[in-house]
Amino acid sequence: PTILAIESSCDETSAAVIRGGKVLSNIIATQAVHEKYGGVVPELASRAHQQNIIPVVTEALNKANVTKNELSAVAFTRGPGLLGALLVGSSFAKSFALGLNIPLIDVNHMQAHILAHFIDDPKPNFPFLCLTVSGGHTQIVLVKSHLDMEVIGQTTDDAVGEAFDKTAKMLGLPYPGGPMLDKAAAQGNPKAFEFPVGNMPGYDYSFSGIKTSVLYFLRDKTKDNPNFVQENINDICASVQHTLIKTLLKKVVQATKDLGIKEVAIAGGVSANSGLRAALQDYAKRYSWNVYIPAFQYCTDNAGMIAMAAHFQYLAGDFADQYASPDPRMKI
Ligand code: ATP
Ligand code: MG
Ligand code: FE
Repeated sequence: PTILAIESSCDETSAAVIRGGKVLSNIIATQAVHEKYGGVVPELASRAHQQNIIPVVTEALNKANVTKNELSAVAFTRGPGLLGALLVGSSFAKSFALGLNIPLIDVNHMQAHILAHFIDDPKPNFPFLCLTVSGGHTQIVLVKSHLDMEVIGQTTDDAVGEAFDKTAKMLGLPYPGGPMLDKAAAQGNPKAFEFPVGNMPGYDYSFSGIKTSVLYFLRDKTKDNPNFVQENINDICASVQHTLIKTLLKKVVQATKDLGIKEVAIAGGVSANSGLRAALQDYAKRYSWNVYIPAFQYCTDNAGMIAMAAHFQYLAGDFADQYASPDPRMKI
């Protein structure tokens, strides 16, 4: 099948074309309008999606060298995400499918982050564990097949991406904070400072505490030295990042032991973090895991992953109808 896929759950407008399971194009328009607000403004995101969607789809079809009459189906992100943002992508996909008289496929954004692993080689073997870490989610998912997944642990408060972004903001780093913090951390000493982490039962996480502890730490340190942040920015970033990564991987280690699984993947925007990628390789050696790390372009939001999910759904005959509405809190 040849499928056009659309992603519009947050602040990336993206379209991709997949044919026979091979991604032919993956066009991503990142919305710059949110920078000056230091975070995503939902109403502005919706409007930017409206402006971007036609050029992005046109470019995706052109780059793939596919005409709309060759399409077998149109896929869209149904959720989770911002309602107004999802509405733009879903309305567009529905009209496009209706106009071409071809089926519609509704995709779960979090499943798609995981299925990004099936775009390129090497592909994980089932069952595998996927640590899905992004701006809105932190989950350990037991992946039994392409379309059968179970969340076995998750954050009870903030997502780890939020912890990255909020720490970066407190340190005065520009938005989006995660990648900036990553860069500074690479120059710093991860053992310079210690931050406490919440310890939740089972495979669950808590990341709201570290935000508060960083806040108090900075308040106390800047009392003695107003230049403390500027002088220690790299070490602070490295230490916070180290703490977050250690917290994430501790539960993954526990889950691999309990379930006897050695196939471990990471997915979602925070899987672009160089510290996490390096730590996963170390753990792979220590615990003899096979680890799977997506290419950068498939870590943060993109329609390539939506297309990959849609491909499997198409083969399984899992279609949506014109009544399918966005689901901002859609679960795996
Ligand atoms: P969700 O997928 O949960 O709906 P989202 O779509 O907003 O949320 P993604 O685009 O998957 O999230 O990921 C964005 C998050 O990834 C942001 O929090 C961002 O700071 C973080 N991120 C991106 N690159 C890095 C990096 N190199 N280091 C740390 N965090 C990063
Ligand atoms: Mg984003
Ligand atoms: Fe995402």
